[in-house]
Amino acid sequence: MAATFDVIVVGVGGMGSAACYELARRGLRVLGLEQFELVHSRGSSHGQTRIIRTAYAEGPEYVPLVQRAFEKWYDLEQFTGRHLLTECACLNVGPPDSEHVRGVRRSVQQHRLTAEELSGSAINRRFPAFRFPADWQGVLEQAAGFLFVEECVRAQIHAAVAWGAEIHAHEPVQRWHVLGSGVEVTTERGTYQAAQLVVTAGAWATRLLADLGVPLRVMRQVLLWFDVRSQAAQFRRDRFPIFLADVADGPYYGLPAIDRCGIKVARHYNAPEWDSPDQVDWTTTADDERPIRQFLDRFLPGVGPQTQAQVCMYTLTPDRHFVIDQHPAYPPVWVACGFSGHGFKFAPMVGEILAEGVAQGRFSSDMRFFSVRRFA
Ligand SMILES: Cc1cc2nc3c(=O)[nH]c(=O)nc-3n(C[C@H](O)[C@H](O)[C@H](O)COP(=O)(O)OP(=O)(O)OC[C@H]3O[C@@H](n4cnc5c(N)ncnc54)[C@H](O)[C@@H]3O)c2cc1C
Repeated sequence: MAATFDVIVVGVGGMGSAACYELARRGLRVLGLEQFELVHSRGSSHGQTRIIRTAYAEGPEYVPLVQRAFEKWYDLEQFTGRHLLTECACLNVGPPDSEHVRGVRRSVQQHRLTAEELSGSAINRRFPAFRFPADWQGVLEQAAGFLFVEECVRAQIHAAVAWGAEIHAHEPVQRWHVLGSGVEVTTERGTYQAAQLVVTAGAWATRLLADLGVPLRVMRQVLLWFDVRSQAAQFRRDRFPIFLADVADGPYYGLPAIDRCGIKVARHYNAPEWDSPDQVDWTTTADDERPIRQFLDRFLPGVGPQTQAQVCMYTLTPDRHFVIDQHPAYPPVWVACGFSGHGFKFAPMVGEILAEGVAQGRFSSDMRFFSVRRFA
């Protein structure tokens, strides 16, 4: 006989682990199914750190969600006794016509956030490692930081299990279907039934949610670390900010040096888009370093050789905004996907939103911004 749960969560990565925790905390009988080991480096939630920032260039709609996410990350730190979030200033910088900087300013104005305007030359004086053109413009905010991404996923799983969730690693879901008023999920090991299903499958949503009506695409992204030991103090997190630089072939972003691997720098977007995660090449080559080295030579000269590299995946929607919704064709099914390279900071909020949806049969706030139907 099939084992029965209140809710099954498919994919226990960044969002799925948050959903398992929030659902279990509400007293629901939860089964989380993960195809790989728990906390792995073959999806989208690995690579040591993730930026969290409040003055959100991607849209002022996100600001209240980030503000609440900060609180929820701190709650999770208290609950699990793990250090997850480190505060650090965040600099958004670009040429005078930068769309990114304009977006940051929109969020600052609409939500009356505290931020400091700086010219390129003022940035170079304040943070001597940078060489931005004098007429560039920057917005520096203190309400930002970085999350230890693997530790966050681990903490969410730990908290979910503490609240009674059952989580299975190495159990890929082969298919799911709606059965009566509930769902049935089939894996290599067996069949499970539940009243409701949450699909948080990251890049594999391209397969598990193929009929959702959202044209999801997968993008390979490379994270690189660079040695800064010859001038280590300049790149310490009390002296060097997280940065997002709106450069013509970018944007590029980076984080201060927090260990011997040095500063982490990467290019955001600007890579081929694929239909499925199976097409992603997980090896790195000298071609991956070339554009980043050019960026460093121009704006951060003096950074040493590459120390480490990792490949990771973005799952993109056409408008680069998330999908968090009830499946339009199957009411017992809830989906969260297409986080488009900026979702991790929101994971506890995504978990909360999904759990409220499952528990109440509807979302408690207006979720049109993240709806599936916007692609109809
Ligand atoms: C290089 C890089 C840098 C980023 N930087 C930032 C940042 O600074 N700030 C930020 O907020 N966001 C950032 N992001 C985005 C953020 O990391 C992602 O939006 C987030 O991690 C997505 O989480 P997810 O749960 O959707 O995917 P994942 O964490 O990949 O989880 C999906 C899980 O589902 C599992 N799964 C899939 N199919 C099945 C199946 N059939 N059966 C069982 N399990 C299955 C997978 O194995 C995986 O564990 C970055 C992403 C990358 C790649």
